[in-house]
Amino acid sequence: SEARLRRTENLASMTTMAAGVAHEIKNPLAAMGIHLQLLKKAFVRKTSLTLDDAQRYIDVLDEEINRLNSIVVDFLFAVRPMDTRLRLGSLEKTLKEICNFVEPELNEHKVTLVRDIATSLPRLEFDENLLKQALLNLIKNAMNAMENGGMLTLQARLDGNLVSIKIVDTGTGMSDETLLKIFEPYFTTKATGTGLGLTVVYKIMKEHKGDITVTSKLGEGTCFTLTFPVPRTERLALGNEPVTCVASSI
Ligand code: ADP
Ligand code: MG
Repeated sequence: SEARLRRTENLASMTTMAAGVAHEIKNPLAAMGIHLQLLKKAFVRKTSLTLDDAQRYIDVLDEEINRLNSIVVDFLFAVRPMDTRLRLGSLEKTLKEICNFVEPELNEHKVTLVRDIATSLPRLEFDENLLKQALLNLIKNAMNAMENGGMLTLQARLDGNLVSIKIVDTGTGMSDETLLKIFEPYFTTKATGTGLGLTVVYKIMKEHKGDITVTSKLGEGTCFTLTFPVPRTERLALGNEPVTCVASSI
């Protein structure tokens, strides 16, 4: 019955999400319609249109197309059953790749990236693409929260039978009220946000039987922590698993 419950839950959230997406695409479509009309008027009726105006209208079309694209992509990611392929592998390589990938853009935004990744972490069962997607969503949010630059720390640690990854920023932080809502689909405080980024991160962590927690302080910054269970086989390799001896007395 647990599975059934989950399916009903999924269906309900799918309907809510679909209604949300329909609502979300209305604004970009309206904006595109208006600016296309303005361009059309100038061409068809040969009304005067400065090059600057034309450029502005085209920029709006461009932005709104991008926005529609992220609404649809985020939506699909959020509702689609994930094709999760867990593989035993080293986190270090994935984290290094993510750091190298985001560092140029962070620097462009005057954000310094601090890599604080413990060496000789145990291997984990994870889906590399999904983990990268989750980290990208969190890093993007962190960057958005540091409009005037700052510091982003990516930390990875072994903590007992868990590996934790922390994404720490020195950005705006969140009020308690905001903090309560951030995992709700479509909750956003941004003019151009989809409010689905953290919904996707949450879903990805569930696929990994992991967890996500967040602490934040207004005006100081935010810390998201992802935790992953260390697989049994790797625990034994680490030697920190209590050894149980079963003696058969036949
Ligand atoms: P979006 O980024 O499209 O708004 P998300 O689901 O990624 O959607 O985030 C939801 C909201 O959570 C954001 O609009 C923002 O208010 C808040 N948030 C998330 N991460 C951070 C962060 N690192 N610092 C401050 N606020 C954040
Ligand atoms: Mg986001």
